[in-house]
Amino acid sequence: MPRIGGEDPRQPAGEKTKRVLIVGGVAGGASCAARLRRLDERATIVIFERGPYVSFASCGLPYFVGEIIPDESKLLVATPELFRDWFRIEVRTRSEVTSIDRSRREVEVHDLESGRVYREPYDALVLAPGSAPVRPELPGIELPGIFTLRTIPDSRAIREWLKRRKARRAVVIGGGFIGLEMAENLDVWGLEVTIVEKADQLLPPLDAEMAEFVRDWLVTRTARVHLGDGAAGFERTEAGELRVRTEAGAVFEADVAIIAMGVTPEVGLAREAGLEIGARGGIRVDESMRTGDERIWAVGDAVEVRNAVTGEWDLVPLAGPASREGRIAADTIRGRASRFRGAQGTAVCGFFGLTAALTGASEKALRQAGIEDYEAVYLHPGHHATYYPGAKPIHMKLLFRKSDGLILGAQAVGEEGVERRIDVIAMAIQKGGTVFDLEEAEVCYAPQYGAAKDPVNLAGMLAANAVKGDVALAPWNGLADAGAMLLDVREAGEFASGNIDGAVNIPLNELRERLDELPREGEIWVNCRVGRRSYFACRLLSQRGFHVRNLSGGYHSYRAWYPDERHPGQAK
Ligand SMILES: Cc1cc2nc3c(=O)[nH]c(=O)nc-3n(C[C@H](O)[C@H](O)[C@H](O)COP(=O)(O)OP(=O)(O)OC[C@H]3O[C@@H](n4cnc5c(N)ncnc54)[C@H](O)[C@@H]3O)c2cc1C
Repeated sequence: MPRIGGEDPRQPAGEKTKRVLIVGGVAGGASCAARLRRLDERATIVIFERGPYVSFASCGLPYFVGEIIPDESKLLVATPELFRDWFRIEVRTRSEVTSIDRSRREVEVHDLESGRVYREPYDALVLAPGSAPVRPELPGIELPGIFTLRTIPDSRAIREWLKRRKARRAVVIGGGFIGLEMAENLDVWGLEVTIVEKADQLLPPLDAEMAEFVRDWLVTRTARVHLGDGAAGFERTEAGELRVRTEAGAVFEADVAIIAMGVTPEVGLAREAGLEIGARGGIRVDESMRTGDERIWAVGDAVEVRNAVTGEWDLVPLAGPASREGRIAADTIRGRASRFRGAQGTAVCGFFGLTAALTGASEKALRQAGIEDYEAVYLHPGHHATYYPGAKPIHMKLLFRKSDGLILGAQAVGEEGVERRIDVIAMAIQKGGTVFDLEEAEVCYAPQYGAAKDPVNLAGMLAANAVKGDVALAPWNGLADAGAMLLDVREAGEFASGNIDGAVNIPLNELRERLDELPREGEIWVNCRVGRRSYFACRLLSQRGFHVRNLSGGYHSYRAWYPDERHPGQAK
């Protein structure tokens, strides 16, 4: 545990850091500067920011494009004047730090307004340069009307373009968080939006079957979704429109294209200064956010951090970790022994009335990290009591360690109450919680907010049942070669409206009378609509000597694992 308020033994005895320079003045840099002032009234603190603004709300930019945030000034969380007046922190905007002289402890600064180049000495240097949008060198990428989104001027340029061109159609390249937020905000303008995504799924941090709920939602609304195919180049048509060609030869015409293909850490300055860059491409720091140079710290999107679940080095380009890391750097510059606990990648995104959120490791991240001791449960509860009008389903996946129930990750998609459930589980993960803790979690309940058995409790119960051995889980990706009898215990009408290839229907209420139709040898994999009746059936059957497994999440999960228009019976 960090010794809160204790002194860092690496701080030279009696030394007071006098001059702290900060490169980058948005989430990580600004929070570091303000925290530092609160800890040290005497230090000289200077922020260098390449752009025209400090401390602006990057996360609000898509909504500024959509004019949900109409006034640009609302994006400015703090101004250079506020830093000066409240904190006596000097902010130099339009000032790019171009190199670091570690032996002399100086940086070189390029004043982008006057062209002047000068040097500034430091006792401590904090690098918070963030990450840049990926903009691959595709043919035609420099054509007008193709944008990335990182800064206020970027979002202003998109808005002006939409107005000037009276744009009607847009292509968003990249179906991650920023891509989907942009799709929504272009839709606000009445544009017909096509999302082109190279991966086989939207929102790549989610597992593919969970992302299927997102795709389903989007395609039944306004956006067109083109998966499994990347952009290959851009052309201008004779009518002056953009033409986007894909690797597989598809063509989309549009008035505007947004490139939202992810971000890459800005590490040029650190690399040239000889600081260590990790295998994921970020600056390597220790738990106090210090680089290999004891006078240089680095925070935010530019650094690699430990994934709190897998222990692997990771890039987590999110505002929350950036601000926390900024505070920790300030603490340790002042000699406090603060420690970054690692990042869980807790994130949320809303688009077209749907919310997707996740925390901890996804199943694919666990596999990549070589972790095999895990299992997953799926559930689709209402976001509040179903007897109260307006309950909306939340599609949830909970990943946990099979051997002891430690929570490893969670994902949820739905219209309401999604982020609340993920936040509770995020906190449980941070505290090293187990599925038994979720089972016992005491969360808010009144009919319009939740249920006496909240979705968080239900997730815990389902997983606890598996850990305790009350019910074995069947793997959804093993359906094709299961060699098991597939038993569907829904009512006949439900079964007729859609079922798993090869499943036999015996409704739960007839099961006890029809046991002789079931094999005594071999396994029976049971499903229903959401996994509840099949759990009852599993308990019933296992007590009567059958070898059963529950297909967690039922037919809802089947549809996500095996979407109709792909190959039925073939998992992604
Ligand atoms: C459109 C968009 C939406 C987002 N939405 C969310 C969201 O909803 N939730 C969330 O958690 N995160 C979101 N993010 C991510 C979040 O904004 C970043 O994780 C966070 O801003 C990172 O903070 P940072 O301080 O590391 O870098 P940044 O905020 O990028 O700041 C770095 C600054 O450093 C400056 N700089 C770089 N190099 C130099 C140099 N050599 N000299 C001087 N200045 C330099 C840059 O100009 C930049 O302004 C979003 C990002 C974008 C672009």
